[in-house]
Amino acid sequence: MQPRYGAIEGGGTKFICAVGGGPNNILAETRIPTTTPDETLGQAIAFFKEHDPISALGVACFGPLDPDPVSPSFGHILPTPKPGWTNANIVGTFRSALGIPVGFDTDVNGAALAESRWGAGQGCDPVLYLTIGTGIGGGAMVNGKLLHGLIHPEMGHMPLPHDPIKDPFPGWCPFHADCFEGLAAGPAIEKRWGQKAETLPPDHPAWDLEAHYIALALMSYIVTLSPQKIIIGGGVAQQAHMLPLIHQKVQALLNGYVQSSKITHEIDRYIVLPGLGTRSGILGALALAASVDED
Ligand code: ADP
Ligand code: ZN
Repeated sequence: MQPRYGAIEGGGTKFICAVGGGPNNILAETRIPTTTPDETLGQAIAFFKEHDPISALGVACFGPLDPDPVSPSFGHILPTPKPGWTNANIVGTFRSALGIPVGFDTDVNGAALAESRWGAGQGCDPVLYLTIGTGIGGGAMVNGKLLHGLIHPEMGHMPLPHDPIKDPFPGWCPFHADCFEGLAAGPAIEKRWGQKAETLPPDHPAWDLEAHYIALALMSYIVTLSPQKIIIGGGVAQQAHMLPLIHQKVQALLNGYVQSSKITHEIDRYIVLPGLGTRSGILGALALAASVDED
């Protein structure tokens, strides 16, 4: 009999909950609005109780969060500007309500895991997954494991060269102003140009600047992590016309230095959209459940 896992992609606006055994075997799915931890986690618990039995739960969640199983705050959300969620005990709440093991990681580490296993990252290691949406975040599979460290990577907060003459927008990150997220997440595009990113036409100068910032960040990830595949998800990445621009700019910035044919000849297959479309997050949660069940 195939195992039944619970999966949650926990986001700032909604929690997607699913029950299933694998990417082609999702038995039930629901969306719960992200309000307070009590309300949102309570509704998720009710959903999973309706779909008993479940052998393990995986949660791929917005951060910052504590993914270290030996830390006293393991499974909690760390201090966040998101009202009510600081110190929310995600793993403990589900463990005590459902009595099953709970796998827990960032949304982007979850997506990196799912893309490695079933999507665009198959056969590659390291795999870098980047999301560019309301925020910017990155997760990575390195030597077959999800990358953790002090806490988890915060790739969206990488500082970038910012020319205030070419781009007078000061950036909106509350911590760093003009870090990558402050300059290039969806809200930065909206604040800079005065309209939502999805309403800007493909020939708008916003996209060349956006591709420039993305390429600068990707160059740093390439020279530090040496990823074999870079996958870009999130709402802003849905502007698929930006990909060729990003490819050209990354090649120009690296200037032939990284001697891999993946960059010099096959960059269109190196920096790609998610193979699982918008499903990387929830399938990542499912993979986290399967991993904790095997432990
Ligand atoms: P979230 O990050 O909240 O999970 P998204 O990845 O959809 O959700 O990111 C939302 C951000 O992306 C918003 O700033 C929105 O303006 C922008 N966005 C959403 N869809 C598109 C699109 N098709 N093209 C460009 N920007 C988009
Ligand atoms: Zn920042």
